Amino acid sequence: MKGSQVLERLRKSGYKITPQRQEILNALLGSGINIPQSAEEIHKKVIEKYPHISLDTVYRNLQVLTDLEIVSKLNLQDGKNRYELNYGEHHHHLICLKCGAAEAIEFCPFKSVDIKKIEEEKKFEIRRHSFELFGYCKICRHQPEGTEPGTFEGTDDQE
Ligand SMILES: [Zn+2]
Ligand SMILES: [Zn+2]
Repeated sequence: MKGSQVLERLRKSGYKITPQRQEILNALLGSGINIPQSAEEIHKKVIEKYPHISLDTVYRNLQVLTDLEIVSKLNLQDGKNRYELNYGEHHHHLICLKCGAAEAIEFCPFKSVDIKKIEEEKKFEIRRHSFELFGYCKICRHQPEGTEPGTFEGTDDQE
């Protein structure tokens, strides 16, 4: 989803595009690649331009954007939620338990599931699902327990 489409969807939903909200979207778009970010990380970027915006305001706006399905909230096991823009391609994530890196994968295990059938059987309207795979990224998997993440300087195929 492009920035302009995001704004269009907000307008259509009757939401005001406040400068803060615009800046939150910029923070999410800004990285270019779709890297899920925590509210704290987004806040850090937003206050570069709007120093008076509180973390609370960022949280509230992220919640609105999540409700509008413009932003997805990922529940990671480190207890910190991460947010990302809902890009066109539906995807899931590989999440590193050590450094929190989240990599998108296009594989969806629910493609083969008959969602309509579940909806009919359970009389439940399904709107979205979440599915994340947890493990260790290529940097962290080579590091002994207890070391800082992301400091490994060897080659990928070193065992
Ligand atoms: Zn890692
Ligand atoms: Zn899926």
